[in-house]
Amino acid sequence: MENILIIEDSAVQAAQLKTILEDDYDVTIAQSAEEGLTQVEREDYSLILLDVVMPGMDGFTLLKKLQEGIIPPNLPVILLTSLSDVENEHHGLDLGAVDYITKPFYSAIVKARVNTHIKLYNYCRQFEQRSMTDQLTGIANRRNYERYSLIRWQEAVRLQIPFSICMFDIDYFKMYNDTFGHLAGDDVLVAVAKTISSYLNRSTDFFARYGGEEFVVLFQGGGSDKVFEYSKKMRQAIEDLHIPHNPSVSQWVTISMGGVTALPTAESSYELYLKIADTMLYDAKRNGRNRLVWADEKMKQLWEK
Ligand code: GH3
Ligand code: MG
Ligand code: MG
Ligand code: MG
Repeated sequence: MENILIIEDSAVQAAQLKTILEDDYDVTIAQSAEEGLTQVEREDYSLILLDVVMPGMDGFTLLKKLQEGIIPPNLPVILLTSLSDVENEHHGLDLGAVDYITKPFYSAIVKARVNTHIKLYNYCRQFEQRSMTDQLTGIANRRNYERYSLIRWQEAVRLQIPFSICMFDIDYFKMYNDTFGHLAGDDVLVAVAKTISSYLNRSTDFFARYGGEEFVVLFQGGGSDKVFEYSKKMRQAIEDLHIPHNPSVSQWVTISMGGVTALPTAESSYELYLKIADTMLYDAKRNGRNRLVWADEKMKQLWEK
């Protein structure tokens, strides 16, 4: 069941709402804006019913606060109030509430509105999810990468932890397509993405299809020595899939990898490090492919072979 949060100072009214909704939803009650704030940080909700008039922080103020990144941008907030004048209603909607329910409550109307907004929110989430996922491989797509790479980077700056960028590209992939066909090429992309994904289990790992047959992995924490070794394993895992290639170029399908580990500060530029990773990848290609080249924290190059 989906979670709904009711933020309402009147225990009687909160209980009334809960009775209306609890057959279909998991309902939590917070009796003040402050308590509501704690709740939203603790759990994921699909909808919030928010009272406007409360002692301490009022609903309008809380709504503004919630929208400063505390709740997902499209999470529906419905305002509850006995203030039935249009000005307040207008104000609430202006602040980004999706709807407005005036007291006293009519069960059927509350239910219908809640159902509708949860349905819309779910469509929205599904759409968002799809627009961030690479259709072929199911991993993050370029758009997702563009959105999250900088967020991850800034996190590393704030936490003062190492940040690594690993780029890789399938070797002689044009030849693969030309030999075995585009559909077989697609299968290779899926297999490569799946294999690399199986190595990335931490919530701080980020893996995306950068474009075509090129991928990018971001790691937070871990010095270059560790990440270099780990990336080597990932590269080897692709070779070990033993996907036959055109023997005129290679026995198996392989990848070339290039990476960099940075100790980012507020002054350092993500784009610059990305460029360095790309240069390392280029060096791996130029020096025989199926290998990993890394730039460590001091910009010293580490070569796999
Ligand atoms: P290198 O070892 O230097 O990387 O050579 P390469 O042939 O892999 O590189 P090139 O850039 O010449 O070719 C990339 C190929 O990747 C060409 C393109 O058709 C193929 N490709 C890109 N996206 C897809 C895809 O979604 N599916 C398939 N099957 N092929 C793709
Ligand atoms: Mg109240
Ligand atoms: Mg390639
Ligand atoms: Mg390429």
